[in-house]
Order: sequence, then structure tokens, then C-alpha cells
Amino acid sequence: MIPFDYTRAASLDEATRAGRAPSARFIAGGTTLVDLMKLHVETPAHVVDLTALAQHDPSLAAITDLTDGGLRIGALALMSDTAWDARVKTRYPLVSQSLLLAASGQLRNMATIGGNVLQRTRCWYFRDVATPCNKREPGSGCSALRGHDRIHAVLGGSTHCIATHPSDLAVALAALDATVHVRGASARTMPFSALHVLPGDHPERETTLQPGEVITAIDLPPLAAARRSLYLKVRDRASYAFALASAAVAVDVQNGTIRDARIALGGVGTRPWRSPEAERALVGQPPNDATFRAAADAALAGAVPRRENGFKIALARRTLVRALAEVTA
Ligand code: SF4
Repeated sequence: MIPFDYTRAASLDEATRAGRAPSARFIAGGTTLVDLMKLHVETPAHVVDLTALAQHDPSLAAITDLTDGGLRIGALALMSDTAWDARVKTRYPLVSQSLLLAASGQLRNMATIGGNVLQRTRCWYFRDVATPCNKREPGSGCSALRGHDRIHAVLGGSTHCIATHPSDLAVALAALDATVHVRGASARTMPFSALHVLPGDHPERETTLQPGEVITAIDLPPLAAARRSLYLKVRDRASYAFALASAAVAVDVQNGTIRDARIALGGVGTRPWRSPEAERALVGQPPNDATFRAAADAALAGAVPRRENGFKIALARRTLVRALAEVTA
């Protein structure tokens, strides 16, 4: 590992100030960053440790009821604590499921909610410093575009990068249209859909966070459909594997008609992939197989297959249809 400066921040002000230094990286659970530093994929000059902040401000690691009926999850809350929280399990089953289907028990006991949604791609070329990668080294080229692309994206790719976003939780939060609280020089909020960006010409930029900004909390909105929700993940192994395709669905059915639907896909997009097209195909329709297939077709209409990953389009369609059938059964 390459030497770096280390700051254990005692306040958000100190953290955001230190995080603005060139080549600074925040660390909390460390389950992504330390791996990437060992591989020399990440070579920060400064590492700013956020883990002590919760000692000074417990809300940063807490799960709190909001007065509007929603739930606030502190960015330093652990994946495991969040997944097993009774309010999350009851009111937002898709959030709990997305966390429990991710990583391993040991990693879930270390990794934080904020770190989870900011984790880097698992593109094998990104993690191999011997190969060109625009995301790791801007302008060097994309090895996946001419190499093995089985795990790569069919939605949202560019001529510079086709890497998938790896987070399961982020797919559930995209479906819910959660709100992200951010603290930098000042505090601000943004819809979850505004956090991650498409790769475009600059795949090295993955979010709209500015240097020194940290996520402090994520709000889950009060949403009737969320109680009837599901996160379905399809992968190569039964555990400890990233999604080849996943679907986060929340559906409100009343008197035989779908009144509200929230749909997002994982494993197939360059960012957590909310699908308003699928939602429009569902609302006002009866919850049956024909409706679900129409929604899946709408969700994947813009998919672009590569040499090895065309199977993901059919897989994502079937995953979404099955998730909708299960959640409305
Ligand atoms: Fe790098 Fe993206 Fe290409 Fe993978 S797909 S090699 S992350 S530029």
C-alpha cells in the first residue's frame, strides 16, 4: 500500500475540511476503499476517517422515525443494523432484503449505508491496474469495450465506459425515490436519482458530490406501496456475488388495479436504474402477467447488448416479471 496521511475526524466540519484536500478519500467501514488501495486502484494522499463522528453525533449512525411517517437512516448506520431494524423490515422490506442479499455477514457488520451507495464498480478491468480503464485513469481507454463484458451494463453505457453500478441497496433507494442529506461547506439535500451520474465522456465521475461533501443521512419517504415491496436478485452464486440482474419493486394495488408502482433495476445499468417507463406501464392496469410483461418490455426497451452480456436483457425481464408476480400475489 502506498503511504498516505490519516485524519480521524472529530466533527463534520473537520471531516469536510480535510476531505477537500486534493486526492483525499473518506473512509468508514473501509470494505471497498481498503481493497482498492491494496490493489493500487485507489492511491489517496489523505484518508479521512469518519467512524468517530457517531461518538459526537449519534444521529449519524441512528435510524429515526420522521414526523411524516418516513424513516431517516444515518449514513454511518451499519448494513446489518439497518437490515434487521424492525421498522425497516416492516415498512420497507425491499431495503432490508437488498442489504441481506449483499456482501457477507462479516462485511455487513462493517460496511455503512453511506459507503454502500458510494462503492466503486466491480468491473474486473477497473480493478486490474495492468489494463486500460477510463474510470481509473481518464483517457486511457476502456478494456471492456473490446474485452470480456459478461458482467457489464446494457443500460446507460457510453463509448467510454459500460461498468455496472454494484450496490443492491442503491437500487432499492432509487425505487423509493429516497432523499439524500449531504454536508460539505454547507448542508443540502437531493433526490436519490440526482446522486449517481451516467458515465458519458467522464466515467471517472460517478456522483454529483463535490470535493469534501459527505452523505450524512438518507430519508425513506412515507409510501404505502413500500410495505408491499420486494428486492429480487439473480447472480452466479447463491451468496456473496454481485447481481447479474435485480429488481426492486413496490406496488400499491387497490380493488384489482395498480394505483402506484416503483420500479428499479440493478446489475444491468451504469447507475441504479429507476424505470419510469415500467411504472407508467403498470399504473391503472390489473396486476396480471400481461401487465408485468409489458412493464418489463418497457424497462428494457433501450437496452444495448454487447458480445457476452445479451443474456442480461432476457434475465432482467424475467426477474422483473417474477418480482412483480411475487409482490402482488
Ligand atoms: Fe474501466 Fe468502465 Fe471500461 Fe470497466 S467498463 S474498463 S470501469 S472504463
